Amino acid sequence: MPAREGPVVLHCPICKSTAHEFPRIGDATGFLCAAHGNFKVADTIFVLDENYSRQEWEIALRRAKQRARGAWPLIRRADFLR
Ligand SMILES: [Zn+2]
Repeated sequence: MPAREGPVVLHCPICKSTAHEFPRIGDATGFLCAAHGNFKVADTIFVLDENYSRQEWEIALRRAKQRARGAWPLIRRADFLR
């Protein structure tokens, strides 16, 4: 894969609005969305490949926020109901 420089603009996986993606942190990618704030997604490539519905994403983010306690919420595959 080609190297990336700085944050890239892409779309929030939850609401599809414009968001910023931060460089990968370990196996997680950080997103900054105007509607959803800061959050990270673990195993991003696999999670995005699942095409979860917006409702599934909202539930997953809520679970991640409950765990985070002030830190960046980290959404994991296990947070999605299936
Ligand atoms: Zn969003």
